[in-house]
Amino acid sequence: MNIINEQILLKNRPIAYLDAKRDLQFTSQTLSKISTDEVCVRNLYVSIDPTHRVWFSDRKQYMEPIKLGEVVRSFGVGIVVESRHPDFKKGDKVSGLLGWQHYALVHGKQLNRLSQASSQSLSSELSIYGLTGVTAYFGLLDIAAPKKGETLLVSAAAGAVGSIVGQIGKIKGCRVIGVCGTHEKCEWLKDELGFDDAINYKEEDVEKRLDEACPNGIDVYFENVGGTLLDMVLKRINKFARISLCGLISTYNDEEPQAGPYHFSQILMQRAKVQGFIITDYLHRWAEAVGQLKTWVDEGRIKYQEDIEEGLENIPQAIEKLFDGRNKGKLIMGTSFTAIEN
Ligand code: NDP
Repeated sequence: MNIINEQILLKNRPIAYLDAKRDLQFTSQTLSKISTDEVCVRNLYVSIDPTHRVWFSDRKQYMEPIKLGEVVRSFGVGIVVESRHPDFKKGDKVSGLLGWQHYALVHGKQLNRLSQASSQSLSSELSIYGLTGVTAYFGLLDIAAPKKGETLLVSAAAGAVGSIVGQIGKIKGCRVIGVCGTHEKCEWLKDELGFDDAINYKEEDVEKRLDEACPNGIDVYFENVGGTLLDMVLKRINKFARISLCGLISTYNDEEPQAGPYHFSQILMQRAKVQGFIITDYLHRWAEAVGQLKTWVDEGRIKYQEDIEEGLENIPQAIEKLFDGRNKGKLIMGTSFTAIEN
């Protein structure tokens, strides 16, 4: 049977913000024949991430940039429709780098079989039990090692990663302050997720509010954003502060390099540690994080939110939400097969 596969390819490297008409190409083509050791996966959910904007560019980065003319790389979950690999059979649910397309032909070695509790949604493999949750877990606990009583500040705090970081910080006994872009998000962080305070960087005097919310300075900063906020934080870090450098979303659309932080010297003065990390370096410890996150979710100590839209063709509008702050939790795209398989 011929399968027509709809795909989104990278056509041009964006100039500043993604212009979907110019930069992406929608195609339909017949799926190639499955080869030995390959698995054919029907994608059910694909992930939309800030890092897509990095992968679209050809700046120096942690993976190869997506090549022009290639299917846009993305994490995804799906169901096996045909397998020529001994470890997979038709009907298995799997995750991996499946791409923005309806079907993926992937070598079996690059897939993980999912063995889920029936109560667990498949999309959670892309949010709390996938990259997002695991990033929050190791990025906070392994990189920054927060201690009871310390002050933890989180940027993009109401986002997918940030909202989990703050809740783990509360479990570890920290005073947790979030920075995010709307009043509604601030209320959610305080009322629903248990943050001690939240600062709306778009509407409040951030310097003043940081002084109010962090009267004893900042011991741990979980950085998702970069830019002027980082400078304000450096001014307030305590001796032996740790900065977990997870992301710099405010810079991803920049065409020109921006000046570095003015208060960089505080890293020296306060003997602070700044460490970047890429979560794929933790693949060997993935199960440890997922196990702990499941326990905390089951105990009601961690809540997570997903922002699920439907239809590959809606990805261009959806990705904009990450950069203007309209996403509510982990941004995920259901393919048109989601309804059939769930
Ligand atoms: P989010 O769900 O947090 O969405 C992005 C959020 O960033 C938006 O909702 C918006 O919220 C905020 N934002 C966007 N532009 C700006 C800006 N110019 N200034 C301040 N805030 C902005 O996305 P994720 O949780 O998926 O990702 C969060 C960060 O983590 C990103 O930087 C990403 O690259 C990084 N990351 C890193 C990984 C790693 O391995 N190191 C793995 C996964 C993610 P608001 O309303 O607050 O403005």
